[in-house]
Amino acid sequence: MSALDNTLLEDILRQARPLIGQGKVANYIPALADVPAERLGIAVCTLDGTVYQAGDAEERFSIQSISKVLSLTLAMTRYHESELWQRVGKEPSGQPFNSLLQLELEQGKPRNPFINAGALVVCDMLETRLTAPRQRMLEVVRSLTQQPEINYDRHVARSEFDHSARNAAIAWLMKSFGNFANDVPKVLQTYFHYCSMTMSCVELARCFLYLANHGRSLGQEAAVLTPKQTRQINALMVTSGMYDGAGEFAWRVGMPGKSGVGGGIIAVVPGEMSIAVWSPELDGSGNSLAGTAALELLAERIGRSIF
Ligand code: GLN
Repeated sequence: MSALDNTLLEDILRQARPLIGQGKVANYIPALADVPAERLGIAVCTLDGTVYQAGDAEERFSIQSISKVLSLTLAMTRYHESELWQRVGKEPSGQPFNSLLQLELEQGKPRNPFINAGALVVCDMLETRLTAPRQRMLEVVRSLTQQPEINYDRHVARSEFDHSARNAAIAWLMKSFGNFANDVPKVLQTYFHYCSMTMSCVELARCFLYLANHGRSLGQEAAVLTPKQTRQINALMVTSGMYDGAGEFAWRVGMPGKSGVGGGIIAVVPGEMSIAVWSPELDGSGNSLAGTAALELLAERIGRSIF
């Protein structure tokens, strides 16, 4: 087993780098298509706040669906369990992240909060209970990362809104089933803004340390979530964080993880560390190809798995 340090992370990136060229950068959001495919970064934050990093770990990128963990976190602090889980399920979907198929068969109740349909319902719920959901999200993320300049990329948010046919269809379908309370374009805007947040691997690893630390962030008096809520989010990440690639990811990496089409993935070793990787090229399920390989190598080298 290897000790966790920057040299180990550099070594892991060296081994994962040859995979670049074998995946595809997301281009269905035009603003994302321009991101250089050869970027590769990793950062690990341990419970005492130490950060290890290698590669492009300080360059910001579009966090996309990683934001679904943050919107769920916010919703869990604003809604009673019974209210929240009545509108969204806790089961893996086995379907692509933007699928409409299951949603119609299951009367507009999304399988889980990490597919687009589920995250849109969560955003709808936030719209109902928060006076300024976009501002509130920035406050939360800025305080979790201690980086006051973290922001939305309005160009990316705009680009997604201009190409939102599928997400709009998902939202309207849910509205037709009575599972969507607010104005659809308004909620879509909030959802796209959340997805457009730009953060680096180092910032992501710091941001999600609460998932490794029983709901507590470093340097914050109040807990983000209770230990039980934290376990629940980690469980959902295992079953649904990587969409129809969740089984493969659990098999290979063995940690709760959440990906975004910007090529980022966050992963958690509960009680020990949070990890963020970034490589823009994706596999067929929309998960970072080299990023997953880097996590697999890390898990093996430091001998960690939750299983
Ligand atoms: N903003 C993207 C979308 O709604 C997020 C998808 C993802 O990262 N998997 O399509």
